[in-house]
Amino acid sequence: MDAITNHMPTAELQALDAAHHMHPFTAQKDLAEKGARIITRANGVWLTDSEGNEMLDGMAGLWCVNIGYGRSELADAAARQMRELPYYNTFFQTSHVPAIALSAKLAELAPGDLNHVFFAGSGSEANDTNIRMVRHYWAMKGKPEKSIIISRKNAYHGSTMGAASLGGMVPMHEQGGLPIPDIHHIPQPNWWAEGGDISPEDFGFARAKELEKAIHELGEERVAAFIAEPVQGAGGVIVPPETYWPEIQRICDQYSILLIADEVICGFGRTGNWFGSQTMNIRPHIMTIAKGLSSGYAPIGGSIVCDEVANVIGQGEFNHGYTYSGHPVAASVALENLRILEEENVIGHVRDVAGPHLKEKWEALADHPLVGEAKICGMMASIALTPDKATRAAFAADAGTVGFICRERCFANNVVMRHVGDRMIISPPLVISTDEIDQLVERARRSLDECLEEVT
Ligand code: PLP
Repeated sequence: MDAITNHMPTAELQALDAAHHMHPFTAQKDLAEKGARIITRANGVWLTDSEGNEMLDGMAGLWCVNIGYGRSELADAAARQMRELPYYNTFFQTSHVPAIALSAKLAELAPGDLNHVFFAGSGSEANDTNIRMVRHYWAMKGKPEKSIIISRKNAYHGSTMGAASLGGMVPMHEQGGLPIPDIHHIPQPNWWAEGGDISPEDFGFARAKELEKAIHELGEERVAAFIAEPVQGAGGVIVPPETYWPEIQRICDQYSILLIADEVICGFGRTGNWFGSQTMNIRPHIMTIAKGLSSGYAPIGGSIVCDEVANVIGQGEFNHGYTYSGHPVAASVALENLRILEEENVIGHVRDVAGPHLKEKWEALADHPLVGEAKICGMMASIALTPDKATRAAFAADAGTVGFICRERCFANNVVMRHVGDRMIISPPLVISTDEIDQLVERARRSLDECLEEVT
C-alpha cells in the first residue's frame, strides 16, 4: 500500500477512513456515503482541512484546546520527556518527577483542601475512578451501603461503563446495558426547555430541591455522592440559574453527601477562573479533570481529591489504577500547558478581554428570529433555536433537526459549532482574539440567516 499522507486526494483518504476506521459518535454508513471532514493541520484558533479550507474552531476541538493549536513548547516538552523517560508506571510504590510535579502543581491551583491527585488517561477513566473511590471511601468509614451516586438527566460524564452510567443521556443508556447499579438521575436545571412558566430563579431552586427529594426517597444512608458539571457542557451549555448551586451545596453539606464537580470542560480557565467550582462558588470533595489539563495535546485526566477522602482511602490499598496513570510524557505536556496558562495570563484574558467581548456579541444574537435565549459563562456559550420565542417552543420533530441544519451551514461558512438538539454551542480556544470573536459571531449569524431561509 502507498504511504498514506496529507498529500493524498481527499476522496482516497475518506474511502480508507470509512473502510477501516470506526469513529466515536458517528454512523459509519454516513462516513461511507459522505466521507469525513479530514483535518490536516491547525494553528491558533484555525483549522485547515484536506481541501485547504481554513475554519475557525469554535469548539476548541472537543472543548479542550484551551491554549490554541500550534504551541511548539508542548511538542518540545513531550520530546524532551520521551528522550529522558518515555514511560514508567506509578503502581506499587514507584513514582517519577513529571507525576510528582504535576500533582503538586494541581494541588497548588485547586481550591480549598483539594490536595491529592489520582491520574487517569481521560475524563471517562477519571469518573470511573470517582465511582470506585467514593464507594470505597464510605466502605472504609463503615458505611458500605452508602453506594448510590446521584447524577442528572442529560448529563455527559464520559463513555466507559461507569462514566456513561453517570451520564444521563438516554441514547447512551440504550446501548450496552447501562446504567450500572446504584446510579440515580435527577432532572437538570435547563430553564429554557423545562422551566414552564416559573421564573428562572424559582426553577433553579426547585431543580436543586430535586436532590433533596431523591435523598429522602433513596435514604440518606444509601447516598454516597452527587456529581455534576458546574456548567453543563455537552448537554447544551446549560448555565444554571443563580439559585441552583447554593442550594445544592447546602443539601450536600446537610446530608453529608460527597460533591463531585466534573471539571473536564469547566476546568483550566473555561469559565474565567481556574475551575468552574470557583465561578459557581462551590466546595467539591473531588474534581474530575481532563481536556484543558493538557489543552488536548496529550491524553491525560484525573481526580483531584480533598484531604478527608484521600486520607481515608490512603489507610489501605486502593485496588485501582491505569497503566497510563500519570504518564510521564502526558504529565510533562500538561505541566507546560499549565505554565503557559499561568505565565501568559490566559485566564485573565478570558475574564477581562475575550469573555466580556464574546458575551456582548453572543447575547446580541438573541435578536435573531431563530434564537430564543443566548447563554454564556466565560468562554462556553449556547443559543436555543426556536420557532416561537414567546412560548419557548421547540421545533416539531419532523422539521428535520434545525440544529443539524444550522451546524451544516456553520461548516459551509468555515466556522465549527456544535448542536445539541436545537441548541447551538461554542467553546473556542481561550486565547481567541477579539477580532477572531467578531469573525466567529459574524459567521454564526450568517449561518443562522441561511438556516432560517432553509426552514421557513
Ligand atoms: N466529563 C465531561 C463533563 C465531559 O464533557 C467529558 C467529555 O466530553 C468527559 C467527562 C469524558 O472525558 P473523555 O472524553 O476524556 O473520556
